[in-house]
Amino acid sequence: LMQLSVPLNFIGFIYREIRQGLTDIEHMFDLLDVKQEVVDKPAAKALAIGQGKVEFRDVHFAYDPQRPILKGISFEVPAGKTVAIVGPSGAGKSTISRLLFRFYDVQSGSILIDGQDVRDVTQETLRAAIGMVPQDTVLFNDTIAYNIRYGRPGATDEEVRRAAEMAQIGPFIEHLPEGYKAMVGERGLKLSGGEKQRVAIARTILKAPPILMLDEATSALDTHTEQEIQAALDLVSRGRTTLVIAHRLSTVISADEIIVLKDGLIAERGTHSSLLHHGGLYASMWARQREASEAEERLRIARATD
Ligand code: ATP
Repeated sequence: LMQLSVPLNFIGFIYREIRQGLTDIEHMFDLLDVKQEVVDKPAAKALAIGQGKVEFRDVHFAYDPQRPILKGISFEVPAGKTVAIVGPSGAGKSTISRLLFRFYDVQSGSILIDGQDVRDVTQETLRAAIGMVPQDTVLFNDTIAYNIRYGRPGATDEEVRRAAEMAQIGPFIEHLPEGYKAMVGERGLKLSGGEKQRVAIARTILKAPPILMLDEATSALDTHTEQEIQAALDLVSRGRTTLVIAHRLSTVISADEIIVLKDGLIAERGTHSSLLHHGGLYASMWARQREASEAEERLRIARATD
């Protein structure tokens, strides 16, 4: 019986490894909300990336033809600039990021990168040009170094370390008993939402893409974590064309332009101060969010002093 149990254990081990691998991939697809329905044109070319200008021209889109989500959206992210998309929940903010990645095709209108329609280039070169810091980062069941290096598998230990420092997660890792060799993911150390986001930022720093897309976490982070993440994001987006999908409003203050989506259309656009001055939807969202975060902060202080 002993002789049999060893190979059986081994088979069990292999089975669990494979299952976990599949789960990781499934997670990733869930996360990105991907349906493999978009294919490259036979004549698709490699994306010729220049400065990395992004343009949405009169984009119409629906997941279900009965229910239009975007009803004519036009905006431009000039090379090296930052545009933030804000708006009520369900307005279509994350949809904009999925369309830029070409997980879906637009119904009409077009999306261009440096003048090239995303439908005319290979998906591989398109996705290689865009770095994504998603809402919820998938961690592999491996070391934290492996998870960061995923951004550029050829990166040296020193480059991984430097990326972690820039992403403001270096000190956290160095305090772990096993440092960069610490296992993370389902079977290892569980990282908080803010820590996972910084791993994603470190990955993106290694990938060094010309275009950056930040899909900000919906969940509230404490003020200190939020400031650390903000500092890391400011570093990584400097000089890169950046599209921020903002669920909270604190990250958008310094954006070159803020686009306010509502009911599938652009309701308002401008800088933070011009939109506040305008006193419309953005100004009221801002006021509401401030009240909510002040109340949360008071609650935190009250709990801490109890
Ligand atoms: P939030 O701030 O809550 O994340 P959002 O503005 O990012 O919202 P989207 O995720 O872009 O909103 O979704 C826009 C609308 O499209 C929502 O009503 C949503 O239910 C719908 N939707 C999103 N993904 C799909 C999908 N794969 N199939 C069908 N409908 C979808």
